[in-house]
Amino acid sequence: MSTRVAVVTGGNKGIGKAIVQALCKQFQGDVYLTARDTGRGQDAVSSLSSEGLKVHFQQLDINDHSSINAAAAFFKDKYGGVDVLVNNAGIAFKGADTTPFAIQAEVTLKTNYFATLDVLTHFLPLVKAGGRVVNVSSFVSVRSLNKCSPQLQERFRSEDITEEELTQLMQRFVDSTKKDQHKQDGWPETAYGVSKIGVTTLSKIQARRVSKERPNDQILVNACCPGWVRTDMAGPKAPKSPEEGAVTPVYLALLPAGATEPHGEFVSDKVVQAW
Ligand code: NDP
Repeated sequence: MSTRVAVVTGGNKGIGKAIVQALCKQFQGDVYLTARDTGRGQDAVSSLSSEGLKVHFQQLDINDHSSINAAAAFFKDKYGGVDVLVNNAGIAFKGADTTPFAIQAEVTLKTNYFATLDVLTHFLPLVKAGGRVVNVSSFVSVRSLNKCSPQLQERFRSEDITEEELTQLMQRFVDSTKKDQHKQDGWPETAYGVSKIGVTTLSKIQARRVSKERPNDQILVNACCPGWVRTDMAGPKAPKSPEEGAVTPVYLALLPAGATEPHGEFVSDKVVQAW
């Protein structure tokens, strides 16, 4: 049997690095820390190696098509695909940031939704039978969903929403912010929250698609919240350590062979949450 492989995006610090660390200890196979910046990625690899862990590195900037293409080709050639994919990379503007909201919306959606979608478009076909896909979303996705207009809520919760419709809705939010029209159009005042609505909804859509198109492959696709975690993104006051934040993503990445659930769920503290 070929060597199994796990890939984590945004692995050079924070929750991503802690996910890599935990996978190195628990996953039977090669673990790849990926990062957009090779220097920061290699530093993280060195620090994990100094703990005695065996970790591999691959450059991957999720905002860069050619970087995604190169990484996908690498895993296809070397491993014939991937067994575990953790989409952890993400950004958030600080609450005090004075960048105009429309810019924050465009930049945040670009990485958290559109770039994550781009990674999934290239990598989902590479996920092997028995594979696990984990998209790191946030509890903020649920809170923000509940602040959307009833019409938007209905679409995000519907079983028939497609990837194309979701992508159009995400783009509509960005366009709406440029006209300062987003509130009238039924959107909440949070670019990060909307981007994570996109991540959670996308996970559900792709889980349904995988079940339909590859019914015998036992692939499980889920979104999760790591909790509120002390990282550069969330600051020092958050209650969880990065290692604690990694627990739910790693649980979903390592769901045992033959498991049929959770699938297409939003999971927090290892428990399926209402959407
Ligand atoms: P950090 O800011 O500490 O780390 C984010 C990671 O994402 C970094 O490695 C960063 O790389 C990487 N990244 C950003 N943009 C890209 C890109 N274009 N390509 C590749 N990597 C990129 O954040 P956290 O560890 O806190 O967050 C990890 C995930 O968890 C995010 O998706 C976040 O939204 C989510 N989350 C976090 C919570 C928390 O409380 N911390 C709560 C809920 C969800 P670089 O160092 O190069 O910038």
